[in-house]
Amino acid sequence: MALELRPNCEYCDKDLPPDASDARICSYECTFCADCVERRLSNVCPNCGGGFMARPIRPAREWRSGISRARQPASTKRVRLSHSRGEIALFVREVAAIPPEHR
Ligand SMILES: [Zn+2]
Ligand SMILES: [Zn+2]
Repeated sequence: MALELRPNCEYCDKDLPPDASDARICSYECTFCADCVERRLSNVCPNCGGGFMARPIRPAREWRSGISRARQPASTKRVRLSHSRGEIALFVREVAAIPPEHR
């Protein structure tokens, strides 16, 4: 199954099209923009507590048969925060001091 390419930052709702270089994901595919990950989340996913990595860009062109953005299109379902911003700030404060590999 292909990675779910979600269309927006869950925190600030910025559009993150599949070729965005500033999309960040956690291991559960929770998706945020680089700015929110850095400035608001301190590399803590508010949904799972894990860290983030840059989301790889799925090729637009069909380099290999049946494999491309057209064949496995990005999701269009916008995702919203499932916790309040206040609760997230407290959560981030608690978790951010621990590096992702020790969480
Ligand atoms: Zn954002
Ligand atoms: Zn997560």
